[in-house]
Formats: sequence, structure tokens, C-alpha cells
Amino acid sequence: MWTEFLQLPPPALRALLPWILIGVGFVAQFSGARLLIGRHRQSAAEERTVTKCPSAPEEETAAPLLLEMPIDGAHVPTNPELLPGARRAYRGGEHQGVDFSCRPGTPVVAAADGWVLSIADEPDLPKARRDELLGYCKQLGETPPEVLGVLHGRRVTLCHGLREGQLLTTSYSHLGDVSPDIKPGVRVRQGDPIGETGASGTSHAFGDSRWSELHFEVHLNGVPLGEGLTPQDAGALYREFLRREVPQ
Ligand SMILES: [Zn+2]
Repeated sequence: MWTEFLQLPPPALRALLPWILIGVGFVAQFSGARLLIGRHRQSAAEERTVTKCPSAPEEETAAPLLLEMPIDGAHVPTNPELLPGARRAYRGGEHQGVDFSCRPGTPVVAAADGWVLSIADEPDLPKARRDELLGYCKQLGETPPEVLGVLHGRRVTLCHGLREGQLLTTSYSHLGDVSPDIKPGVRVRQGDPIGETGASGTSHAFGDSRWSELHFEVHLNGVPLGEGLTPQDAGALYREFLRREVPQ
């Protein structure tokens, strides 16, 4: 009977039984190990997915270029003297940004999300030294970068990462004051206060305290926006960038 066969296996089968059990054990262990390896591989892959930062460069590349006006209610001027590409005879060279004339102490805000790249807060030169320096530049027919840095006065530069595949930075010059919480590396959101307008770095710093101006620059991959264009075309480009609406 088959029940007898189960209870009392034939001698040959009885001799093989320990080896069959060992074999079954090996198969079970191997399967278990495979399962563990599989799980480890799966969790490692999940870990890689999790550690992939949402703001990784390849994703920021797709972020659109959205800029907010650095002064609430302001408009890009039409006067070519206030736009990129305007000649600056008193120092040689060309203007590289947009000038917004406004009351002293007008709040200045971040044009886009990002973080503080640098703060230049050098005191103004004595007027005689400034005039001497500008005289050298006029003779040269250009303004070297280290001189230009002095002429920007109190200046905050923000880094906005890669936008549409290009490194976007914005800078805000001639500030009267920098907001106390604005420090290098600090994150800012679009519309956050950066500081207040003033006259630092300009000739007005020595006289008329009622005068103030924001010099605003947008750089893409280190190149000032509008470089090489006429002031009118550069102004139109700034108008295009600053007109883009922020999605709610
Ligand atoms: Zn300017």
C-alpha cells in the first residue's frame, strides 16, 4: 500500500534520504540568499532615488526664468542713458545694467528665488581719490573691473542657480542699507527684502542726500544681459524678462 511506502521507505530510499534533505536545505538557503540580495539591491536603488535632491542641477536646468521687478511698482526706464550699452564718458566704458531712480530708502527685493552670493560693503573713497580714479579711466577709455567694483558701492549679488540651462545671477548696487538678515549663503525667496536704495559708490554719496538709485544687473553665465546690444534693445530685453508673471 502507498501508506506503507510512506511509513517505511525502501532501504535504497532510506539511504538517500539524508542527502535529499541536505539538498533541499541547500536549495532553500540559496533561494533565501538570492531573495536577500534582491531586496538589498532594491533598497539600494530606492536609496539612490531618495538621495537624488529635488533641486539637482539637471532639474534646475528646466526651471523657468521668472524675474520680479526689484522695486515694487517700478518700470524699466526708456531713457537710453539708464540702460545697458549707454556710454559712460566720465569713466570710459559702457553701462552694464538698468538704473531705477527712486526716493532714498526705497525697499529693494530679490528678483527671484536663490541665495546670497556676495555682499560688497566697502566705504566710499574720499572724493579727491574717486575723481582721480575716474580721470585715469577716462584716459584709458575703459573701466577696469576693480574700479567698477568700487563704483557699485554697497552691492548685493544673488545666485539663482541654473535657469533654462544658464547660470542666473542678479545684483543690486548703490544700496543705502543691506537688510540685517542678508548674509553670504543665506537663502532668499523672490520678493524678499534685500536692502534699501541709496547713493553708495556714486558721486551723489558726497552731496545730495535726496538722490538715490538702484543699479540692477542680470547676468546669464557671467555675461551681463543685453551686452553688445543698443540701449533700446537691451531695455526691451529687460522688459521681457521682468514682465514674466510669477505663477500663484
Ligand atoms: Zn547704473
